[in-house]
Amino acid sequence: MERADIVRLDKGHVWHPYTAMEAYIAGTDPLVISRSEGPYLFDVDGRRYLDANGSWWVSTLGHRHPRLVRALVEQAGSLPHVSLAGVTHAPASLLASELAAIAPGADRASLPAAERLSRVFYSDNGSTAVEVAIKMAAQYWAQNERPRRTRFITLSGAFHGETIGATSVGGVPLFREVFGPLLFDVVHVPSPAEEGGWERAFEQVQAALRAHPDEIAGVIVEPVLQGAAGMLMYAPDFLRAVREATRAVDTFLIADEVFTGLGRTGARFAVDLADVVPDLLCLAKALSGGLMPFGATLASERIFSGFLGAPQRALYYGHSYCGNPLGAAVAREVLAVYRDEDVMGQVARKAPRIRAAFERMAETIPGLVRPRALGMVGAVDLGGGGYLARGGWRVYEAARRRGLYLRPLGDTVYIAPALNIPDDALTELLDGVEASLREVAGG
Ligand SMILES: *Cc1c(COP(=O)(O)O)cnc(C)c1O
Repeated sequence: MERADIVRLDKGHVWHPYTAMEAYIAGTDPLVISRSEGPYLFDVDGRRYLDANGSWWVSTLGHRHPRLVRALVEQAGSLPHVSLAGVTHAPASLLASELAAIAPGADRASLPAAERLSRVFYSDNGSTAVEVAIKMAAQYWAQNERPRRTRFITLSGAFHGETIGATSVGGVPLFREVFGPLLFDVVHVPSPAEEGGWERAFEQVQAALRAHPDEIAGVIVEPVLQGAAGMLMYAPDFLRAVREATRAVDTFLIADEVFTGLGRTGARFAVDLADVVPDLLCLAKALSGGLMPFGATLASERIFSGFLGAPQRALYYGHSYCGNPLGAAVAREVLAVYRDEDVMGQVARKAPRIRAAFERMAETIPGLVRPRALGMVGAVDLGGGGYLARGGWRVYEAARRRGLYLRPLGDTVYIAPALNIPDDALTELLDGVEASLREVAGG
């Protein structure tokens, strides 16, 4: 199909995510992608684009990794789908045991059985993985002697997904305000990534926990890295402090690792950077390597136990595609590729290059501020304009002319490439980002 025909049908019918559609229809010349391979996307005319963000942070092993494709095809040849209601299958049961075996704390002999993340609830994306965690926490307290515990503490700038529950615990005002009347009440505290340091945010967490110990069902965080807020990073000390504070009043810590999980930050899980074991941990994105929508919520044995007993104590929740065999088979293969290709070792070798490149850019290109890097993320801001600022989009255009797909977050220009991006492609990426920033910032 020709590019022009695809775009005509698109502009006639497709409503795009996070897109001002009037401006899009009037003026945007979208990329029209027909193929992908490794770190690259190819458009219908054969033009190649280096994917700087792993297609919204999911393609952590590059596009169309041959082993993942094979796992998908093989699974499709035997069992593409069956419900997980009164039924089980090898991919779902094996994956659950494998996730439990690598979960934070799994290798810590002293961790009590009740605190181990040994139970896995499947869903189909990051938002639902968070929704599940919220419902588990709320229902746990409702039926385990703390029925007033219905409020969550959440960080300013937090992004936890798109459902009303996930939006309620979100902290980006632009994404929340219009739905204000529909959202449930939460306790907002400042982001630990804000100037002034993590201690200020922690003091407010502590104060809220102490003021309302009977009301707080849990504290939900994106550990160490707040992605959608603009790749904001904070000290792992904050997580350790919050873990202690939640433990002191015996409430839950929920780690939303939908973005950070499986190596993005340089550790397998971002909570590992703080050596903290949460009560609930949400996974999606990297979990199925950009092949299938797939999510998982890991729960402690204690939380799981709180749903045993009479039938009305069960978690009455589940999506049609819960534990989908295609997604589960691909996710198992993702974990196997991490082992066999030493993906974490690759990250350890590449991360310093990203950090050095962003630091150099900020030093040599006027107008760039706050260079930062963590694992396989590098970011820098063009001033402080926030999500609706346009500077990042000018860099996007400049990068596109150089064959880079570099979607910004407002004035934040960042990269979050495949963790296994080849060295020469990483060089091409960093050089391209630098040249694009130089062109726009005029250095
Ligand atoms: C992307 C993201 C989500 C939502 O995941 P979807 O798969 O887009 O629903 C939730 N939490 C975090 C931290 C994310 O980055």
